Amino acid sequence: MTKPVVAIVGRPNVGKSTIFNRIVGERISIVEDVSGVTRDRIYAEAEWLGKEFSLIDTGGITMEDEPLNQQIRNQAQIAIDEADVIIMLTSIREGVTDADEVVAPMLYRSGKPVVLAVNKADNPESRAYSYEFYSLGLGEPYPISGSHGLGLGDLLDAVIANFPADLEDDYDEDTIRFSVIGRPNVGKSSIVNAIVGEDRVIVSDIEGTTREAVDTRFVTDDGREFAIIDTAGIRKKGKVYENTEKYSVLRALRAIERSNVVLCVINAEEGIREQDKKVFGYAHEAGKGIIIVVNKWDTVEKETNTLRDFELEVREEFRYLSYAPIIFVSATTKKRLDKLPDIIEQVHNNQNIRIQSSILNDVVMDAVATNPTPTDKGKRLKIFYTTQVSVSPPTFIIFVNDPELLHFSYKRFLENRFRATFNFEGTPIHIIARRRT
Ligand code: GDP
Ligand code: GDP
Repeated sequence: MTKPVVAIVGRPNVGKSTIFNRIVGERISIVEDVSGVTRDRIYAEAEWLGKEFSLIDTGGITMEDEPLNQQIRNQAQIAIDEADVIIMLTSIREGVTDADEVVAPMLYRSGKPVVLAVNKADNPESRAYSYEFYSLGLGEPYPISGSHGLGLGDLLDAVIANFPADLEDDYDEDTIRFSVIGRPNVGKSSIVNAIVGEDRVIVSDIEGTTREAVDTRFVTDDGREFAIIDTAGIRKKGKVYENTEKYSVLRALRAIERSNVVLCVINAEEGIREQDKKVFGYAHEAGKGIIIVVNKWDTVEKETNTLRDFELEVREEFRYLSYAPIIFVSATTKKRLDKLPDIIEQVHNNQNIRIQSSILNDVVMDAVATNPTPTDKGKRLKIFYTTQVSVSPPTFIIFVNDPELLHFSYKRFLENRFRATFNFEGTPIHIIARRRT
C-alpha cells in the first residue's frame, strides 16, 4: 500500500526538474485529463524495475522571502522528513559548490540513505570529473546527464537498493482509510476533532510504523473501523516550511495516495479558490472516492435557495467531480458531521462494487439500442464485450473493433448509463477501450 518516497535535493539549476521528469517519464494515464489540472510537478508516481515509488522534487517548494541558502536547507529538511531515500543532485559544470557543502552534512547526519548524483556529465570526458564529489562524504558519485538521459539506470539501481524492506500499512481490509483535504483554515482539524469526538474510541495513535503514527484510528459505536490519514499533517506543527502552499499541497497529495476516500473541504465563508481545484483534481485522477464537504455552513446567511445555489456553484467549478456527493456541515455546531462516517463507508462500498459481466453487457446493449454507436469516416464503432477488470476505482474494459472510434462523448454517455444503473456515487469510474484481437 505505502510506496517508498524518494526526494531530489540540490541547489537551483543543477537539473532537478529535468531529472524528475526523466524518472517519472511520460507515464500515460488511462484516465482522460478532464479535470484540466495543470500539475505542478513536485510530486509524482514513478517506477524502476517493477518497483513503484513516489518522487518529490523539493526544488519546487520555494519560500520566496528567504535567502537562497536557507531555502536549500529547508528543502533538504523536507527531504529528510518525508523521504525514504534522498537523491542529492550536483552538477559537473560548477563542481562542488558552497551550497552543496551546506546540504551534504545535513543529509549525512540525518542517517537517511543518500545517493549522490552528478548531473550534466554529458560526455565521457566530463564523467572523469565526478570523482571530485567524493569530497562531499556521501559515497560514490553517480555521473548522469538529464538532458541526454545517461546514467539514470545505475542511479535508480542504487536508489531502489536502499528502499526499506517493509513499508506495509498495518491496516486490515476492513479499515476504511480517509483523508481530509483543503486549504489552510477551511476547518480540517476542527472536522477531524469533531469526528473523533468523545463518543468514539481512539484505537491507537502511536503503535506500528512511523507512518501510522501520523494517522488517527477510531471505531464507531457499531464497530466500524476507520483511519484518518495524516492527522499529524492536519494539526499544526510549527516548522518553517509547513506554512508554504506547496508543502501543504505535497502533504495532501501524499495523504490522498494512502486513502480510500478523500474528504475535499471547502470553506463556505470564503467560497471556492484555485488551490482547491488542484488537490481535488489530484484525488480525482488518483481514482479515489470523493466527498465534497462544504464547511462553516453556520456562517452563511440563508435564504430560500442559498444551499441550492451554492451546490450549483460547486458543480460548475468542479465539473469533473459530478459524481461526488456534497455535504454541508459545520464543525463548530457539529451540524451533519455525524453523517460523515456513513457517507464515507457508502462511498468506499461503491468504489468496491463488482458487476457481473452478464449484467454489464445487458446494460451496454440497452445503451447502444437507445443511442447508436458513433461512426467516423464511414466506420462504425462496434462493441463486442464489456468486463470489469478492477475496483477502487471500478474499471471497465470495452472490447471494440477500433478503440479510436470510442470518442469521449460516447464514453461519457456509457459512463452515465453505468451510473444510472449502479450506485457509483462518490467514485470515479474508468472505461478503457481495447481492440478485440
Ligand atoms: P533545477 O532548477 O535544479 O530544477 O534545474 P532544471 O531541471 O530546471 O535545469 C536547469 C538547466 O540545466 C536547464 O537549462 C536544463 O536544460 C539544464 N540541464 C539539466 N540537465 C542537464 C544535463 O544533463 N546536461 C546539460 N548540459 N544541461 C542540463
Ligand atoms: P484547518 O487549517 O483547515 O485545519 O482549519 P481549522 O480547523 O484550524 O479551522 C480554522 C478556523 O476556522 C478556526 O478558527 C476554527 O475555529 C474555524 N472553524 C472551523 N470550522 C468552522 C465552522 O464550521 N464554522 C465556523 N464558524 N468556524 C469554523
